[in-house]
Formats: sequence, C-alpha cells, structure tokens
Amino acid sequence: KGTLYIVPTPIGNLNDITLRALDVLRSVDVIAAEDTRHSSVLLNHFGIQATLWAVHEHNERQKADQIVQRLLDGQTIALISDAGTPLISDPGYPLVNACRAAGAHVVALPGACAAITALSAAGLPTDRFLFCGFLPAKQQAREKALQALVGESATLIYYESPRRIIDTLEALIHIFGADRPVVIAREVTKQFETYLHGSAADVLAMVQADSNQQRGEMVLLVGGAPASDDATPPEALQLLARLSQELP
Ligand code: SAM
Repeated sequence: KGTLYIVPTPIGNLNDITLRALDVLRSVDVIAAEDTRHSSVLLNHFGIQATLWAVHEHNERQKADQIVQRLLDGQTIALISDAGTPLISDPGYPLVNACRAAGAHVVALPGACAAITALSAAGLPTDRFLFCGFLPAKQQAREKALQALVGESATLIYYESPRRIIDTLEALIHIFGADRPVVIAREVTKQFETYLHGSAADVLAMVQADSNQQRGEMVLLVGGAPASDDATPPEALQLLARLSQELP
C-alpha cells in the first residue's frame, strides 16, 4: 500500500528542513505542491528532481480522488505547501480527510511552522493556546471574530498580513482593551527577524513608529483574558465589549 507523506518545508531559512524530509522528497513517486514553480526553487536548491503536481485551494477536492487512487495503487506521494506545515492555513485538509475515509496510509513529518515557532519565543503562556489562522479581511467580520474570543483565557495565535496589522491592532485594543499583552513575531527565521512585545497599545505605537514593522510576514500573538477575581462569565465580558463599542 502507498503512503501520503505530509512534509513541512522552511518558513524562510532554507536550513530549516529536516534530513528525513529531504529523504522523503527524494524518494516519493510524486510531490503534490501548492505552487509547483515556487516549490521547484526549493527542490532545485537541494538537487531534488521530482514529478510535481499542483494541488492548491482551487483544485484540491478534485485532485484528492486522483491522489487517493494512486495511493491505493501503491504509489508514494509527498504533500508540500509554499512554506511551513501543509494544512496549517494551507491546502491539504480535503486530501487528508479523503485519505482517511478511503483507508489510505498517511504519515506526517514534524517540521517548520510559523505559529509554533513564534509561540515558543513569544514569552506568552504556552500551556494552552488557540491557533486561529487568518482573521477575516473585512472589518465587521474581523471585529466579530475577535469579540467571540474576548473571554478566552488561552494564548491566541493569528496569522496576519502586514497591510492589515495596524487596523487589526486597533480593533484588538477596542475589543480586548489596550493592556492585553501582544507579541508580533515578524520575519521569523529570516534576516530581519523581530519580536515586538508589550501591551496592545505599546505594540501598536511601535508598529506605527517604524514602517519596517509594517512589512514582511508576521504572526500576531495575544495573551489570554486574565482570570477575573469575580469570575465574570465570558458572556458578560462580551456584552461589556459590545456596549463599549456602542458608547461614545
Ligand atoms: N503553513 C504555514 C506554517 O506552517 O506556518 C503557514 C502558511 S500561511 C499561508 C502564511 C502565513 O504564515 C503568513 O502570512 C504569516 O502570517 C505566517 N508566516 C509564514 N512564515 C512566516 C515567517 N517566516 N515569519 C512570520 N510569519 C510567518
């Protein structure tokens, strides 16, 4: 029986690929990649020649059946995305789900992931965290998404676009309050890696003061809601947050 390997690739620094990942990429029959041109650069760098298939957001449901059939025929296939761990804010979920449903063998390799790397260096609690992916781009939906987590005590992890970071920090201050601890992990593993940390208001001021902080790739981490002494229920916190939005 064949195997689908989920293979993480670097998130910036090309040395962040494991020896096992290179072995697997060298040995599989097919590499299913989010963007074949993008992945060719990585594969060429490591001298790997492979048959590449494009499996991205727009065709992955159709491709899933084809790939499952190949796996059941005994082929080995690696799934990679443009950067980091496939399926983590990246394509792959429909494929892995279809593999499980069909009884195909799936093996995931551990490796680079921006969320986990940033969390481990952020200095926020790591015992409980909630990965939330990208916030919605539209303001109203974004505020609603933040509001839904206003009472969440786990550390929150978001992927954010540099174009929206100021708007998002402003919304965050509005909804979670200016004192909530925030960390922005930017350009992780790359030349201009920076971690900004402080209260939401401090971090907003730092980003506004330096246009370099409005560029590159970033992970936004938010400390969880403090356990309140009087144990205010999350519904009450949400109501308060909504009221404070309505009031002048
Ligand atoms: N699958 C990837 C992973 O495992 O991290 C994430 C893919 S998602 C499409 C891309 C987003 O991840 C970026 O917009 C950014 O928020 C975050 N990201 C990826 N690489 C990063 C890096 N080197 N530094 C900071 N954030 C990064």
